[in-house]
Amino acid sequence: MSMSASRSLGTTAARSFTALWLLALLIAGGACNGQGAAPAQPGTTSPGTNDPPTQTEAVFDGDAAFALLEAQCDFGPRVPGTEAHRKCGDWLLEKLAEYCDEAYAQEFTHVSTRAFPGQSFEMRNLVGIIEPAGGAADDAREVVLLAHWDSRPFADHDPDPTKRDEPVLGANDGASGVAGCLEIARALSVERPPTRVIVLLTDGEDFGVSEPTLSEYFLGAKHFVRNLGDLDPKRGILLDMIGDDTLELGRERYSYNADPALVERIWAKAAELGYGDVFGDTTYTVSDDHVPLIQAGIPTVDLIDWRPEVTRTYWHTTFDTPDRCSPDSLQAVGDVVLAVLREGI
Ligand SMILES: [Zn+2]
Repeated sequence: MSMSASRSLGTTAARSFTALWLLALLIAGGACNGQGAAPAQPGTTSPGTNDPPTQTEAVFDGDAAFALLEAQCDFGPRVPGTEAHRKCGDWLLEKLAEYCDEAYAQEFTHVSTRAFPGQSFEMRNLVGIIEPAGGAADDAREVVLLAHWDSRPFADHDPDPTKRDEPVLGANDGASGVAGCLEIARALSVERPPTRVIVLLTDGEDFGVSEPTLSEYFLGAKHFVRNLGDLDPKRGILLDMIGDDTLELGRERYSYNADPALVERIWAKAAELGYGDVFGDTTYTVSDDHVPLIQAGIPTVDLIDWRPEVTRTYWHTTFDTPDRCSPDSLQAVGDVVLAVLREGI
């Protein structure tokens, strides 16, 4: 299915972007809400009863991001083929439509070969477009900000062998990165970046099996780069496992080899903002959603906490739960990435 065929939300909002933006400047405390055809009126914004309260500030709010992490986990494990997956996907698409000028699902079917041989799964990448300050330009540079919204079907690293067929809740491995992307998108909708930002929530990142070789991983990212349509991202930033309450990020090697300047720029910004303890000096190599993007010619930096003695003790286990995550950790990554995107990359 082509991307344009599955676009369903937000096109009217994109057309009325300029009017909305001017109105948002005029209404003190008014939310910049890109959903629906009519410009927002003061006092009419009413988020769903279970949604985190709508923020109106241009800065990243770690508490709001943490609420988004918890809200995803409240659906249960977001394993493709389950009701929780479908419902959370619907909810995430609504959030993207709320924060972005355009939002749509990029649907695809995956027939499993090794994880669940012969079974087919309906998956969807969720895409939001934020136009740059001044509105869309034909030659706008584009940046993709991504995270995976699926969670793993089986806790194959659980210390208890009887739990290795259970699904993973994915508070850190999945929900943390999505929470960061959504809160950055919301803040960018209030104060626009100089480049178009594509917010990409991938499906099927964590579906695969590792032995004897990696297979059936990064399904959404692979689908995205094969079906770019009229999108043309020049660089990317991937957020994955950014929620641990002792967060420490290292320079990931695929990222560094693809775009050393962007890695160093992110680390310099972190130091400038006082997050030198979070953006540390270690290095490691991780296969993640950024690899298909890099292979497709889109240099992408993966911000991921991959410490063997910390995050990997509960990675792909039944212990990947919100109590291991913190608003402060999301705040650190959100502040840095938002600042870099606002300056333009
Ligand atoms: Zn994972």
